[in-house]
This record gives sequence, C-alpha cells and structure tokens, in this order.
Amino acid sequence: MTHPAIYLDHNASAPLLPEARAALLAALDLTGNPSSVHGHGRALRNLIETARTQVAKLAGAERTQVVFTGSATEAITQAIVGGARAFGVDAILVSAGEHAAVSKAAEATGLPVRQIGLDAHGLIKVEEIVEAIKAADSAGMKLLVCVHLVNNETGVIQPVDRIEVLVGPSPHYLFVDAVQAFGKMALEFSSRAPDMVAVSGHKIGAPAGIGALLMKGHADQVRLIHGGGQETGRRGGTESAAAIAAFGAAAAAFPTRFYDANVSELVRVAEDGMRLIAPNLVVFGERADRIGNVTNFAVPGLKNAVAMMGLDLMGLSVSSGSACSSGKVGPSHVLAAMGVAAELSEGAMRVSFGWSSTIADVEAYLKGFGEVVGRHASRHGRAA
Ligand code: PLP
Repeated sequence: MTHPAIYLDHNASAPLLPEARAALLAALDLTGNPSSVHGHGRALRNLIETARTQVAKLAGAERTQVVFTGSATEAITQAIVGGARAFGVDAILVSAGEHAAVSKAAEATGLPVRQIGLDAHGLIKVEEIVEAIKAADSAGMKLLVCVHLVNNETGVIQPVDRIEVLVGPSPHYLFVDAVQAFGKMALEFSSRAPDMVAVSGHKIGAPAGIGALLMKGHADQVRLIHGGGQETGRRGGTESAAAIAAFGAAAAAFPTRFYDANVSELVRVAEDGMRLIAPNLVVFGERADRIGNVTNFAVPGLKNAVAMMGLDLMGLSVSSGSACSSGKVGPSHVLAAMGVAAELSEGAMRVSFGWSSTIADVEAYLKGFGEVVGRHASRHGRAA
C-alpha cells in the first residue's frame, strides 16, 4: 500500500497543516533573496519576520531570540557544538533519554560526556545532575547540561523546572531539546532559565527541513554555520523563506488544531481498548506525567517488527519509537535506560496522535491491533 489510510505517527512528523501549505505555496511564488534591499527581497524579508513573530509567540520568546535553522538537528548541533566552543565548557551532561541529535552532537564536541540516567518511569534522575554539578564545582569545571523536555518515544514530561533551578543560578549552561513539547505545552523561553532551546517545524505541521534555535542574548556568539551574516550572523546561508513562512503559519495554527483534536482522550481510548484486547499490555512511562498525544507499549511475546508489519498491511502506520534513519527497527536506548528488559522492549510500539487525528483513527487502529494480537495468540496457542 503506497498511501497508508491511517497515520498514527505524529511524533515522527505531523501532516502538513493547510495553513502551512498555503503559506509555503504563496512564498514559493515569490522571487528573490531576502537579504536584497529591493522590493522583491523586501517581500521575502517580510515573510521571514512575520514568521519570526509567530514562532516567538508560540515559544514565549522575544523575536530577536529566534534563529531559523535547517532542522532541529542543526539547531541542537549549533547549541551543543557551538555552545561548548563559545562558552568554553569543560564537559557535557546528557540524559540517557536524549534523541540521537543531542547525544551525537555531545560526542562531536570531543569533550568528556557524562550520561545522566532515567528512572523506571522514564524521568531524568535529577539527583545525578546535582552530583555532577557538585563534582564540577569542586574541580572548577564548567558544564553544558543537555536535556529534553518531552521524550519522543514515551511522551514523558521531564522535570526541567527542577533542572533549571539547579543550573539557572550556576556558572553552568542549560540547553533544552523542546522538539516534542513545542506547541503542546508552554515553553516561556524568555522568562525561564535555559540558555538555548531547539524546536522543529515538521512536528507541528510545517514541512520538514526547518527548525529554530531560541537563544538568550548572552548566547548570541554560539555559532555553527558561518557565512553571509544571515540571522544577524547567528546562522549563515540564504534563508528558505518558504519553509520559514510555513513554520510561522504552523506555529500560529497548530495549538488550536491540536487542542481541538482532543488527543489525550484518543490516547486514553486507545490504551483502554488495547488493555481489553491484551490485558497483559505494558505501557511505558505510564506513571509519569505524559504529554498526552502518545502511547508507547508492548504486549509480552509479540515482537514489534511482526506487529508493525501486520498493521502496515492494514494501512495503519505506527512506529517502534526507536526506528533509525535506515528504516530498520533498532532497540530503544530510552527503554533500556528505564531498565525495561530487552525481550519486552523488542515488542515496543509507539502510536502518536496529532492535529488531524480522530476517534475513527483509534477505532480502526484497535480493530487492527485486535487482529494482530489475535493472530499472535492463535499461533502461540494461548490468549494474549
Ligand atoms: N529531538 C527530538 C526529541 C525529536 O523527536 C526529533 C525528531 O524526531 C529531533 C530532535 C530532530 O528533529 P529534526 O527532524 O527537525 O531534525
């Protein structure tokens, strides 16, 4: 099936919002370079500055704090690789639940990287950050602390407020990957402690290939791509005005659309329905605060590769949550850090909803899930 009927993988990428599509197409019809001072250039510049206001508003940031990048991965790399250099830090702290964009950028600094664990509920162990800061303080070392706000696999909301209290008043720096939180919860960037925050367009209904780094004024020297002075020197390269305009339109439209879809109710119905079908279902991170649009679970004994293939044949697109870019299903480092046994985590699947999701999607999904679980149970000669 080339066009799966039902899309249940919003955490991987959200469908393009009609508002973003309209802004994208309108901008593609314009000619010029936004840095040019003539009328053509100024028209593109206006689109970019309108989008900056829209993204800033959603992030609770000042317009000047928003730097457009080619993806959140680029924004994250700028924050970590560029931040380590600009701030002269001696070591990086990353949580064990970070997206590869964060962990690989930390490695790329060439500095010592210390990993902070997750507890069984998927929460960052804040006490390990306390210890690491104490050790750094007594050694006279400066740290860059890198954490995420919402986990892309489990939806667990991290205790970033507690981490801010530790790092904010200290000589250390704080970077937050807010990719899965943006548009779904308030970031309040200007009034909060993080020095830098990364967000992504395609998680909120803009096309892929556009992101932003939110930077406090003292972080303005944090650079990755040097060049023609665009983004007030903070990110070189001619801006993709069309992608930026679409990002702005998505930022303006997404929260209402997302709220209207009532995704937490969809997750509740999905989890309740799956439990009726498979009473031994395990939902990862269930006891922690979760963002409400995603559920990550396993049925003991049912491998995710088998279940996902069965669902895919029925036109239901779900994820393992940990697919690597090659498209293969890899083991989840997040679940491993939570202490989930490898055998159970081989069954982990992620269903994520968003602005276009409906209860009919959940019903179709539960029907498919029931078939897959039923087939598995009959093959193994027992009830699921
Ligand atoms: N961080 C998190 C938590 C993510 O979920 C993702 C995308 O899956 C990224 C970073 C990377 O975002 P982008 O695809 O815009 O580079």
